[in-house]
Amino acid sequence: MYKRINVQLDSRSYAIHIENGSLSRSGKRLKTATKSKRFLILSAPPVFKLFGNSLRKSIQRTNARVDCILVPDGERAKSEKNLFFILKKMALFGLQKDSCLIALGGGVIGDLGGLAASLYMRGIDFIQCPTTLLAQVDASIGGKTAIDFAGIKNLVGAFYQPKMVLIDPLALKTLTERQLKTGLAEVVKYGIIKDEKLFTKVENNLSLIFKRDPETLFSIISRSCAIKAAIVSADERESGKRAWLNYGHTLGHALESYFGYQILTHGEAIAYGMWFAGLLSSRMGICNEHFVQVQYRLLKSIGLFRKLPRFDPGKIYEKMFLDKKARNGKIQFVLTRKMGLVTIQKNIPRPIILSALTQLQAESSESY
Ligand code: NAD
Repeated sequence: MYKRINVQLDSRSYAIHIENGSLSRSGKRLKTATKSKRFLILSAPPVFKLFGNSLRKSIQRTNARVDCILVPDGERAKSEKNLFFILKKMALFGLQKDSCLIALGGGVIGDLGGLAASLYMRGIDFIQCPTTLLAQVDASIGGKTAIDFAGIKNLVGAFYQPKMVLIDPLALKTLTERQLKTGLAEVVKYGIIKDEKLFTKVENNLSLIFKRDPETLFSIISRSCAIKAAIVSADERESGKRAWLNYGHTLGHALESYFGYQILTHGEAIAYGMWFAGLLSSRMGICNEHFVQVQYRLLKSIGLFRKLPRFDPGKIYEKMFLDKKARNGKIQFVLTRKMGLVTIQKNIPRPIILSALTQLQAESSESY
């Protein structure tokens, strides 16, 4: 099984290669994408232990030199300290303008590695080898890179497109179930914003997905990447359509920040965000209650609704204003018209938002 999807961005265009087992035999492909003879693999210890050596050997077989840098695992790695640690190591290794950084890991490594690659010598080649479902279907595509700074998530970053994205769905075999679910939230999101068939596919194949059936994973990853690639190709800098990808994220980001990034994974937070967006859509009269129920049922059966501690709807409302996506003091929501079709709304009255938050607050403490 192999699929190639193109992200079309003129001179910054690149391919996403999706192939089972590709991580251990991609040396040639990586080398052709960059023409580089020197590679640097950036990873975190748990991921490097699983895939690092086979990826390194596969590149070495092409007679290229490969160095490796490991940073601590988890979100805390997206720091100023690690960014400069990586840049310093790159200088000590003597990496040149024609060297290439490979980010091997989840979204954290991709975001951090992409930013380091964009800064070193004003930009060197960069390849994404995402190993979580979230990174495979979302974070590795589209060129958003960042670190967390001054206590704010993704505050410092750049748009910097990779030269290639290499996805090995078999890498997901070792992923924890909770991490798999968090990525699945993004897959469901693609179904809601663009593709009813994808939504139904997830609905009908949950047990195969949880068993990591290679064919099923390959299929939902390929479809999700195709949707993200098409949206990014049409709107790289998020001036229009790319905002659709934020479906569920306005509340999701506010919840993540409110709970200090401790209680919910990103996917769990956006699952609540999608439920909330459904409630708002129905209250605004733009979608029917049936959609809200169908969406809720799938997210719940995936197991994305972790019981939430009580929250203050007024404080969450204020947090949504602080979201990077709020424009001119207005909160921008992506709402659903029907399965596969979304729309952007900026002028939702405060009482409607607060009453939907209150409903979510009441029901979320019972939902798990
Ligand atoms: P992560 O990178 O922290 O990975 C989650 C955990 O999974 C880590 O402990 C990691 O070691 C482990 N892991 C990774 N691959 C594994 C594998 N194959 N087997 C076993 N364990 C594995 O988290 P994530 O959810 O992948 O990414 C979250 C980050 O992505 C956040 O920082 C978020 O801001 C960012 N993000 C970026 C974009 C973007 O467009 N750039 C989009 C969405 C999210």
